Amino acid sequence: MDPLLKKIINAAGVSGYESEITKIMYDEFRKITKEVEIDNFGNVIARKGKGAKKIMIAAHMDEIGLLVKYITKDGYLNFIKIGGIDDRVLVGQRVIVKSKKGDVHGVIGMKPPHLVKEEERKNPIKYTDMFIDIGAKTREEAENKVSIADSIIFEPNAGPLSGNLFYGKAIDDRVGCFALIKILERLKVNAQIYVVSTVQEEVGLKGARTSSFKINPDFAIAIDTTSAGDTPMIKESESNLKLGCGACITMVEAAGRGIIVSEKIKNLFIDTAKANKIKYQLDVVEGGMTDGAMINMNREGILTGVLSVPSRYAHSPTGVFCADDLNAVIELAVKAVENFVKR
Ligand SMILES: [Zn+2]
Repeated sequence: MDPLLKKIINAAGVSGYESEITKIMYDEFRKITKEVEIDNFGNVIARKGKGAKKIMIAAHMDEIGLLVKYITKDGYLNFIKIGGIDDRVLVGQRVIVKSKKGDVHGVIGMKPPHLVKEEERKNPIKYTDMFIDIGAKTREEAENKVSIADSIIFEPNAGPLSGNLFYGKAIDDRVGCFALIKILERLKVNAQIYVVSTVQEEVGLKGARTSSFKINPDFAIAIDTTSAGDTPMIKESESNLKLGCGACITMVEAAGRGIIVSEKIKNLFIDTAKANKIKYQLDVVEGGMTDGAMINMNREGILTGVLSVPSRYAHSPTGVFCADDLNAVIELAVKAVENFVKR
């Protein structure tokens, strides 16, 4: 597995607590251009190139996770969820509390089935019935390690699955962050290129809103992940996207409440993919949206497109993606920007 990709996927960065991944993105952008800033909101913005047109390429660096809400007198942690997490994926997970004093390992626990009454077992377990066990016996002992409002990530676990398939936490959207670095490296066009790793996407597309207002680009691309449908229990009609079948070009998000991509940008991506023999899939998303939705309706409306890497098990502790699709997204973004600047 590419060591930089692994490092980016494994870094901590729950929404609003992105300092670890911010440093990595800042340092990587700086290797390519001197013009890198971290804005008031926390977005990392890198600039490169000269020209009349301004192009923005964004990917969010925050990840879903948990936050310490309360420490019980027995030393267990109650938590809230940051971002869309299905409670069913939580039990038994190993987590890391990112405390000021360092990393604190924990396990998400609940009452074991042996002790749960037949009637109770029929009800889905809620996150409020779970707790994090950090091995402390008392509140005082726990407070020596962690504090209220510390962020909590799923234990980093990036690695190879098989062939070009890889797994890890925070695939959404660290693969996009990796793409940003490669795109910034490769783009040499007669335009001002702004590459932005945004914060707080998972809690309301916030970093994309402030950064696109500042940059006010002529064209923007959001790079993210989207749900593949090539696993059991998903009908083709729900998602026909497959790992290894190429970059996903978004047409519509959240059944139209997110971005509805303009004809001009749809054609730009499709024509570019065809001309350069880049594998692509068309993505119509019924639920979920990306930074692209926010950039698109900022200011007086900003011409925006969305390219995604298909992935499995979104917003769970371990997702799966194919490196070929990530490469296709990078390739398509670079070529589409080149074509846009020429037009
Ligand atoms: Zn995402």
